[in-house]
Amino acid sequence: MDHFAYRDGVLHAEDVSLEALADRVGTPFYCYSAATIARHFEVFSAAVAGLGNGDPLVAFAIKANPNLSVVATLARLGAGADVVSGGELARALAAGVPAGRIVFSGVGKQAHELAAGIDAGILQFNVESEAEIAMLAEVAAAKRKPVELAIRVNPAVNPGTHAKISTGNKDSKFGVPIERAGAAFVAAAGHEWLRPIGLAAHIGSQLTDLAPIEDCIGRLGALAAELRGAGHAVTRIDVGGGLGVPYRRDQPPPPEPTVYAEMVARATRGWDCRLMFEPGRMIVGNAGVLVSSVILVKQGAAKTFVVTDAGMNDLLRPSLYNAWHDIVALRPAADRITATVVGPVCESGDTFAEDRDIHAVAAGDRIAFLTAGAYGATMASTYNSRPLVPEVMVNGVDWAVVSARNEPAAMQALDSVAPWLAQPDSPRTV
Ligand SMILES: *Cc1c(COP(=O)(O)O)cnc(C)c1O
Repeated sequence: MDHFAYRDGVLHAEDVSLEALADRVGTPFYCYSAATIARHFEVFSAAVAGLGNGDPLVAFAIKANPNLSVVATLARLGAGADVVSGGELARALAAGVPAGRIVFSGVGKQAHELAAGIDAGILQFNVESEAEIAMLAEVAAAKRKPVELAIRVNPAVNPGTHAKISTGNKDSKFGVPIERAGAAFVAAAGHEWLRPIGLAAHIGSQLTDLAPIEDCIGRLGALAAELRGAGHAVTRIDVGGGLGVPYRRDQPPPPEPTVYAEMVARATRGWDCRLMFEPGRMIVGNAGVLVSSVILVKQGAAKTFVVTDAGMNDLLRPSLYNAWHDIVALRPAADRITATVVGPVCESGDTFAEDRDIHAVAAGDRIAFLTAGAYGATMASTYNSRPLVPEVMVNGVDWAVVSARNEPAAMQALDSVAPWLAQPDSPRTV
């Protein structure tokens, strides 16, 4: 459920007209609904409440949407954070996520990032290799601080999602292969300042079938039992994120959080562990839209092209993953057309939809790409020297620009002209 709906023929975010917002901030822009973000977090948290020992930790995967206002909205509701870089750690802390609710994942953490996590006093590191254990041991020893960690296991299951968002199959770069994960845990226990306390896994994103997750959880449970049998305490198990969201209104939705939670309850029965979850997309996916204007409609040899002012640099998912976003007019006409919706970027891959049945639109009309709250703005680039677009958050009748449009001068600010080019009368160098 989300809070984007038509009122008097115009698409609104909560109580704010997206047409009115577009007049104020210009297009393209991302718009997030605070109520939808809160609702999704609360639905998920309520579904998993009571599972495992103690309060489960719901650690929002920051990479899905790192906007400070998005993270702060979640922090106020008690969310933790799953971070995958020093930059995300800094954002989570700046947004008010308590360090004791932060877990640090990632396959290539650097010593300075491990140090920043230790200095902040985060809950745990999810360690992804034997080499990282050695690096973490060194950093912890230098600081003389005990550090809690979980071994991120590669459980060798096929999550049945797009290859580019599959992370738990055997040949994936993520995690320690399950047959070596127990030994890695034991090795970590041998380091003076390391405290291995648990296991973690995250097998992929936009999962619509719960069976591979259940399979993965079963494998974590078997490994935990083995470690306990050898005298080690395993007190936390992090089952990752990955639950899918409905991108297409015309297709059956992925499993509800309650159904997911029933599966987790079944798969973890009797475990005697604190459970941790890392949902990203499920919290913010349907809480955001990308609003764009139609620049022009162009008749190709065989196709009708709707050319929008948003491009692949603003919303990469369709060109990166062949992802589907529903496309609607902010002020729909009764007629429909079949059109290929493209951006202005000079790449054929800058295509949002092929031969799609959409509301009839003309130059100047505004449209929205739905379900753009996750992996949207955060994957944007300035390719074609296009400015990063603003992000707006709506909260009831209130709205605020929560990330500004960067203007051409800001884009050029990090460039400089090499000294030999700066002299008007300098000799030619080539
Ligand atoms: C990306 C990621 C997540 C979140 O995945 P979603 O599909 O957005 O829920 C969780 N954990 C880790 C380690 C990740 O890399």
